[in-house]
Amino acid sequence: MSERTPERPTPEDLDVFRSKVRAWLAENKPPAPDFPLPDSFMEVGTPEQFAYLQAWQRKVYDAGYLGLAWPKEYGGGGKHPQYQAVVNREMGAANVPFMVNIIGLMWAGPVILQMGSHAQKARYIPKILSGEEIWCQGFSEPGHGSDLGSAQTTAVRDGDEWVLNGTKIWTSLGTEAKHMILLARTDPGAPTKYKGLTFFLAPVDIPGVEKRPIKKITGEYGFNETRFEDARIPADCILGREGEGWAVAMATLMFERGAAEGQAGGLSMVPLRVADVVQLAREQLRDGRPAIEDPIIGDQLVRFIAEERAMGLCQLRARIPALSAERPHAILMMNKLVVSEFRRRLTRFAISLQGARAALYMGDPDAPDGGHWQRNYMNAFSATIGGGTSQIQKNILGERVLGLAKSY
Ligand SMILES: Cc1cc2nc3c(=O)[nH]c(=O)nc-3n(C[C@H](O)[C@H](O)[C@H](O)COP(=O)(O)OP(=O)(O)OC[C@H]3O[C@@H](n4cnc5c(N)ncnc54)[C@H](O)[C@@H]3O)c2cc1C
Repeated sequence: MSERTPERPTPEDLDVFRSKVRAWLAENKPPAPDFPLPDSFMEVGTPEQFAYLQAWQRKVYDAGYLGLAWPKEYGGGGKHPQYQAVVNREMGAANVPFMVNIIGLMWAGPVILQMGSHAQKARYIPKILSGEEIWCQGFSEPGHGSDLGSAQTTAVRDGDEWVLNGTKIWTSLGTEAKHMILLARTDPGAPTKYKGLTFFLAPVDIPGVEKRPIKKITGEYGFNETRFEDARIPADCILGREGEGWAVAMATLMFERGAAEGQAGGLSMVPLRVADVVQLAREQLRDGRPAIEDPIIGDQLVRFIAEERAMGLCQLRARIPALSAERPHAILMMNKLVVSEFRRRLTRFAISLQGARAALYMGDPDAPDGGHWQRNYMNAFSATIGGGTSQIQKNILGERVLGLAKSY
C-alpha cells in the first residue's frame, strides 16, 4: 500500500517478530466478559459488546499490531505485509476477539488508500485503525442485494452538498457507525444502470438518517435498516469520480471477498476449530458411549480435519507469489465461499452430535455448552449471504477465475 514496497523480511526476522507477538498476546488477551461475545462483526448487538471490542481494537492498535502494512503517514506501520500476516495467524491461534471496525479495516480503508485523495486518507485512515470511527456499508437495498447495480437510493447535488434519499438494508454495525461507504444513484438518466452511480464516504450520524435495528433468528441484533430522508452530506464526500461509483464498488467488493486478505489485520470472526468439535464428540454420548467412538462420526471428523488443514495450506500458498502467479487472486477469492460453507457444515455437524438436546438454546440451563453451538450454527449462515451469497461467489469464480461463460 505504501508508495515504496518495504523490504521482504527474512524467515529469521519473522521468527523474532512472531515470538514478540505471541508474548504480547499471552500477556494482553482480554479476559472473557460475563456476557456472550458476538461470533463476528455482523453480530455486534449490544453497547457492552461494542465497548469491549472497541477497547480491544484500540489496545491492539496502540501496541502496533494493526495496519502494519499501511503507510506510516496515515497511522500505519509501513512494513511488509508478511508482518501483518504473522499477527493475524497468531491472533487466530490465541483465539482472541475479532476487530470490531472490520468494514473499515478490510474494505473501506483499503479502497480509500487505493483511490482516495491525500486529504481523505489523512482524515479517515488513522481513526479506522484506532477504532475511534466505525464504518458500515450501504450497498444492499430492499429488493437489490445480489443485483447491486440496481441501487435506487438517490443523491442529488444542491450547492455544496448532496441530498440523500432512499433505504439501505442489512447495515452491519449500523448502530455504531459514524461513516458509511455508500452507493447511490446520481444520474437516473444514465444509459445503463451501472453508469450514474456514485460512491460516497458518507457521514451517518447526521440529521435525516434513521437507523432501525433488525432482530435476527438468534434473538440478537447486529444490523439495521438505514433510511435517508433529505440527509445532507458534504460535496467532497465522493470517492473516485461522480458517475463512476460502480468501479469503486467493484474494487471494494474485491477487498471484501478477500483480495486484500490480511492487509490491515485483525480477525473478522471468532475462530472455530475442528478441535473444538472433536472435544464435543468426546463429551457427547451415543448409546452410552462417547460419540467419538462411533466409526461414522470419527470418519466425518477426520474429513473435517483434512479440510481445515487444506484451507490453512491454501492460505499459505496464496502468500507465495510463485505458486499463484497464474491466477493471483484465485485462492483469496475462493476463501469466502469455502470458509463460510465449511463453517456452516461444521456447526451443523456439531449440533447433530447433541441428540434431543440440540433443540435447546442459549438461556436454557440444559443446553450443551450454554447453547453456544446452536447460536454459532444460526450465525454461520450470515457469512454465506453477506458480502455476496455462495451462489454469487460461484458465479464470480466461474467467470473471473475459470473463464466460463457469463451467467445472466
Ligand atoms: C449477516 C449479514 C450482514 C450483512 N451486512 C451487510 C452490510 O453491512 N451492508 C450491505 O450493504 N449489505 C449487507 N448484507 C446484505 C447482503 O450483501 C445481501 O443479503 C446479499 O448480497 C444477497 O442479497 P439479497 O439478500 O437481496 O438476496 P437476493 O439477491 O434477492 O438473492 C436471493 C437468492 O437468489 C440467489 N441469486 C440471486 N442472483 C443470482 C444469480 N445471478 N445467480 C445465482 N443465484 C442468484 C442468491 O444466491 C440467493 O440465494 C448482509 C447480509 C447478511 C446476511
